[in-house]
Amino acid sequence: GEITCSGDTIVIGLAADSGCGKSTFMRRLTSVFGGAASPPKGGNPDSNTLISDTTTVICLDDYHSLDRTGRKEKGVTALDPRANDFDLMYEQVKALKDGVAVEKPIYNHVSGLLDPPELIKPPKILVIEGLHPMYDQRVRDLLDFSIYLDISNEVKFAWKIQRDMAERGHSLESIKASIEARKPDFDAYIDPQKQYADAVIEVLPTQLIPDDNEGKVLRVKLIMKEGVKYFNPVYLFDEGSTISWIPCGRKLTCSYPGIKFAYGPDAYFSHEVSVLEMDGQFDRLDELIYVESHLSNISTKFYGEITQQMLKHADFPGSNNGTGLFQTIVGLKIRDLFEQIAANKASAPLEATKA
Ligand code: ADP
Repeated sequence: GEITCSGDTIVIGLAADSGCGKSTFMRRLTSVFGGAASPPKGGNPDSNTLISDTTTVICLDDYHSLDRTGRKEKGVTALDPRANDFDLMYEQVKALKDGVAVEKPIYNHVSGLLDPPELIKPPKILVIEGLHPMYDQRVRDLLDFSIYLDISNEVKFAWKIQRDMAERGHSLESIKASIEARKPDFDAYIDPQKQYADAVIEVLPTQLIPDDNEGKVLRVKLIMKEGVKYFNPVYLFDEGSTISWIPCGRKLTCSYPGIKFAYGPDAYFSHEVSVLEMDGQFDRLDELIYVESHLSNISTKFYGEITQQMLKHADFPGSNNGTGLFQTIVGLKIRDLFEQIAANKASAPLEATKA
C-alpha cells in the first residue's frame, strides 16, 4: 500500500567535507530510487533542498546558527559546532521522522545570511547531508543508516585544484592555504564522525603507479559495518574470505595501470567490517558487467542494474572508478534497507492481530 502516512520516514545521514562529492552521490542515490531530485518549486531560488517523489535531501548548512558575518566576528569556522544549531537540527529531523512538517531555515550560500524558512514535509526517505550529520548523539540516534565520504588529503587537494583553479581561477597557493586553514576543525569535528558510519567510502591515491601524485587514478575502499540491521555487506566471490582479484584479461580491457580488486574482513574503529576495494579505472564502462556478475549481495532488482546505473550517469565525476561504483552500490543498499523497513512496518500490525 501507500507508505506516505506519518511516521514512516527513514532517515539517512551523509557526512563529508565540502567539495568531496556529496551532491554527485545524491544524484546517484535519487536516480536509484527512480527520479531525479530538484529544488522546491516556487520557493527561494537559493534553497539547498532537493526533492524527488520519494526523497528529500536537506543540507545541514541550513542549521548554521551563525551567518558568515557572525562566524567572522566570533572567529569560528562553519565546521565548528558553535556555528551550528544542533538543538533545532534534532527537533526538526525528529519531527520529520515522526511525520510532522517543519519550517526549516535556509542558509544562503550566496549571501552568507540566513533566509526566511521553507516548509519541509515528511518524505519517505529523508537524507541529511553536510558536515555534521553524526556529530550530535541525538541526531545520530535518529539515523537509520549513515555514510561517511572519506577523501584523503592528497585526493581532496587534486579535486579542489581541478574545481577552484580550473573553474574558479583560484591560485594553487590559495587552495593550499584554505585546505590548511580548515584542517584543525576538520580533524576535531568532522573526521571523527566516520567511526559511527555504517558505510565509509574511502578515497586514496592509487597503489598501482609508484609515487603517483596526480590524484587521477584512485584506490577506493567501501568499508561496510557488520551487524547493521537491514544491511548485508556486499562481497566478492566468497563471503568472509580474503581475496585479491585482477580481472584484466579476456573479459575486461585494462590499459596501464590496470584494475585491482580486494575483499575481506577487517576491523575499523574496533568494529567488525567487510571491505571491498577497487584500485584503478575502467577503460570501457559496459565491461563493468563482468565485475558486477562477480559481486554478491548487491541488492539489484535485475541482472546488470549497477552497470546500467553507471552507464546512465557516465558523465558524473568518478563514473570510471571505485567512487562511482561504490556510491551506486550504497544507493542500492539504501533502497533495499528502505524496502525492508517498509515491508516490516506493513506486516507488523498483521502480526499483532494474529497474536
Ligand atoms: P560536494 O557536494 O561535496 O561539494 P560535489 O559532488 O559537488 O561535492 O563535487 C565537487 C567537485 O569535486 C566536483 O565538481 C568534481 O570536480 C570533484 N569530484 C567529486 N567527486 C569526484 C569523483 N568521484 N572523482 C573525481 N572528482 C570528483
